[in-house]
Amino acid sequence: MNAKFWGVRGSISVSGAGFAATGGNTACVAVESEGHLLVLDAGTGLRALGARLGFAPVDMTLCFSHVHCDHIQGVPFFTPFFHPESRIRVLGARRDGAGIRDTLQAQLKPPVFPITLDTLRAQLQFDDIDVGQSFEVGPFRLRFCEGADLLAHDVQYTDEEYAYRRGWGHSTWKHAVGVARAAAVGKLALIHHDPMREDGAVAEIERLSLERLPGAFAAREGLSMAV
Ligand SMILES: [Zn+2]
Repeated sequence: MNAKFWGVRGSISVSGAGFAATGGNTACVAVESEGHLLVLDAGTGLRALGARLGFAPVDMTLCFSHVHCDHIQGVPFFTPFFHPESRIRVLGARRDGAGIRDTLQAQLKPPVFPITLDTLRAQLQFDDIDVGQSFEVGPFRLRFCEGADLLAHDVQYTDEEYAYRRGWGHSTWKHAVGVARAAAVGKLALIHHDPMREDGAVAEIERLSLERLPGAFAAREGLSMAV
């Protein structure tokens, strides 16, 4: 299996010299195995993946961890969505009574956005998944992270930041290390870096995490690895 990080930033995309080594696009990870392409989350990194694939038919699955805006903003900029021969299965959990199709449709319409979901020409299949239930997609098995080969975990905050941002939907790097250890995962990718976190601070969190957990590393945009 190969994994590539197309977006590793949390909350909002960033740019500038201080972020160049880590990357500025929001969450998007592509994993490939046995000819199957599974894309996890559709942050702005999805646009770059679409540019790489080009205007060509694809057969793939797009699975959302959740639907906060930094995880869905790449959808209308993903070139393969506009090819009529693309076959894309879209998976997400029902939230607040809305299925994944409802959620994306709510975002893709005027006045929020000029094009609608119906404008996408690809053959789309939307499936709602049950939270807590494992399921299989081609050669991949998705469930909570116990025994996973690779865990990509939100590390948005330090302890100090978490103290006054608790409940904002994010974790600390210590949380990520703890989950990875408890779940006995193979490797831990530190991802969803805070938009204020410049490259030096990301490297410091990586260093501290690695002290506690062999195999921990900071996910950086463009990193491709065999798992
Ligand atoms: Zn996020």
